[in-house]
Amino acid sequence: MNGPLLRGELLRWYGRAKRDLPWRKNSTPYRVWVSEIMLQQTTVAAVTPKYEAFLRRFPTPASLAHSIEDEVLKHWAGLGYYSRARNLRRAALEIVAAHGGKFPSEYDAVLALPGIGRYTAGAILSIAFQKPYPLVDGNVIRVFSRLFGLKGRAKDPAFVKKMWPLAERLVPAKKPGDWNQALMELGATVCTPDSPSCGACPVARHCLAFKKGLQDALPLPEVRRKPVPVRWTCLWIEKKGQVLLWRRSDKERLLKNLWGLPEAGRLAASPGRRIAAASHSITHHALKVELRKASPQNGAALPHEAKWVPRSEVRDYLVSSLWLKLLKGAGYPA
Ligand code: SF4
Repeated sequence: MNGPLLRGELLRWYGRAKRDLPWRKNSTPYRVWVSEIMLQQTTVAAVTPKYEAFLRRFPTPASLAHSIEDEVLKHWAGLGYYSRARNLRRAALEIVAAHGGKFPSEYDAVLALPGIGRYTAGAILSIAFQKPYPLVDGNVIRVFSRLFGLKGRAKDPAFVKKMWPLAERLVPAKKPGDWNQALMELGATVCTPDSPSCGACPVARHCLAFKKGLQDALPLPEVRRKPVPVRWTCLWIEKKGQVLLWRRSDKERLLKNLWGLPEAGRLAASPGRRIAAASHSITHHALKVELRKASPQNGAALPHEAKWVPRSEVRDYLVSSLWLKLLKGAGYPA
């Protein structure tokens, strides 16, 4: 493997072929950080329309730190994995408290922030600070597995661990951010999971999998986890223009700490007519949810998790797209 040649070819390709994405303009540490957190487990297509709107509302770490959590969750609506938004705000509070509102530039300080792991620290330091820190994500694992002919499953922790020393050896002192992004861009657009476009690949002549015709066999296929079925019956309880919502606790299996519609059985109300149904996936859970009209039993005290909210504000509370599907299904304005 000729490292300098490989790097030069991939960097030149990146310079001419990279996608025009909003977070690639004006790569400040804050903008890079927000984009990296949004892009974890969420597609570029889903993040792109949300990203600028989020930054308009929270243009600095201080503005994020001084916001209330529900407001941040509202601007995260539709991106899923809401603990990311909470950690973003917690980290912003720490940036204000410990770093005077300025994003830290030292590796250990970045890694110490809530929600930031080795990958995100590497991305921020290389892209925004031009420091030669490596990163490894799903795209990089796939590219390395094929380029170096390494057999393993991309989600196997032992295999992932093997990728870090390779990434460390390859990351250049000059343009480390471009190098890291070039690797990920190659994985996202050329060295794709299915049918990689080896004919259009700028580093095909260095690629062991291509030489051996193994590009479709590497990395090894994942062992598929069977989705866990979950069934909920939720209630639409409305009185004098107000709707009863439910704050889910941090003990819940799904949608922890988020507002939702109450599940039947959690308060004194009998489910009535079915008004909507939806299927929804969260991590490896396959939810089937039905929504029924109900009225609370007269005189029954409401549990502390329940809250009456004006109907016009319901959408501000229900950030998960599961609720959106149900509201649409019931013919309520989303
Ligand atoms: Fe991936 Fe094919 Fe390029 Fe190898 S030659 S890195 S398998 S796209």
